[in-house]
Amino acid sequence: QAASAAAAQVPRYVRVNTLKTCVDDVIDFFKRQGYSYLGKAASVEELRALSGKKFLLDLHLPELLVFPPQTDLHDNLLYTSGHIILQDKASCLPAFLLSPAAGSHIIDACAAPGNKTSHLAAILKNKGQIFAFDVDPKRVATMNTLLARAGVTGCQLAQQDFLTVDPGDPKYSRVTHILLDPSCSGSGMVTRAPGEEVAPSAERLQALAGFQRRVLSHALNFPALRRLVYSTCSVHREENEDVVQAVLQERGSAFRLVTTFPSWPCRGLSAFPGAESCLRASPAETLTHGFFVAVLERCEEGADAPS
Ligand code: SAM
Repeated sequence: QAASAAAAQVPRYVRVNTLKTCVDDVIDFFKRQGYSYLGKAASVEELRALSGKKFLLDLHLPELLVFPPQTDLHDNLLYTSGHIILQDKASCLPAFLLSPAAGSHIIDACAAPGNKTSHLAAILKNKGQIFAFDVDPKRVATMNTLLARAGVTGCQLAQQDFLTVDPGDPKYSRVTHILLDPSCSGSGMVTRAPGEEVAPSAERLQALAGFQRRVLSHALNFPALRRLVYSTCSVHREENEDVVQAVLQERGSAFRLVTTFPSWPCRGLSAFPGAESCLRASPAETLTHGFFVAVLERCEEGADAPS
């Protein structure tokens, strides 16, 4: 009951697909459809107060419009034509924080159905190369449709277990950025139907965390990697701070956790010194689904290890 009440509060977030349009044109379109535009929000409280046919520009993320929770845009022309992407605000954080320059080579390791991949392509302005992987054939098929609709080019999508992708393959020698959004318990997803949420068992959490550690560790083996974003839609520390801590420890001083987005209100649980560099998101604090993001960077050679 509590989770569905929280879901009822989460606004409808609309990411403007800048591969096809721009924020001003989308705002004009919605105004013509009878919505009132209230400008850029100054606080999360303003997002919470939205009602009726009103919308705002988000306060944290550019190119994100915010509508009241009940707004259904699945039949809207802008959505069906790929001009807008219906994507929770928290799930826009990973690509935004990876922040690759146009022209970069990137891996999206667990990519389907591809909302974060299309966000990456928009940040790259379709300039550069995205290598996207997903192990699930059905999800890869869905993703191909979604990427085409979003106007994404320069993305090689493969149905492949990322753990079998060879970091030594010359094809990946220029990969400087990796987005890693692996399978997780999904415990942060707020459902709209009461009773749907089931807490994962300790065994399941352990199995997921084992996979997440392996896949994160594998990603750090790419030789030119400079920056990686690890994210989950889990609220469990075992899948989040603990995974990051274990892999960073295993790597000694080769990688460090980066403090990003100081104005983001919800931080990592204090599982280890420095864990507050991570970001968390929740219906109560950020009006989003529950989410976790950590940004890792390769340490400069000769630089001191982080404390
Ligand atoms: N990043 C996606 C997006 O924003 O649309 C969502 C990714 S979802 C949380 C996790 C994905 O990881 C699933 O599609 C799953 O099939 C895929 N996956 C699980 N194990 C994998 C593996 N070993 N290699 C590649 N993909 C894997």
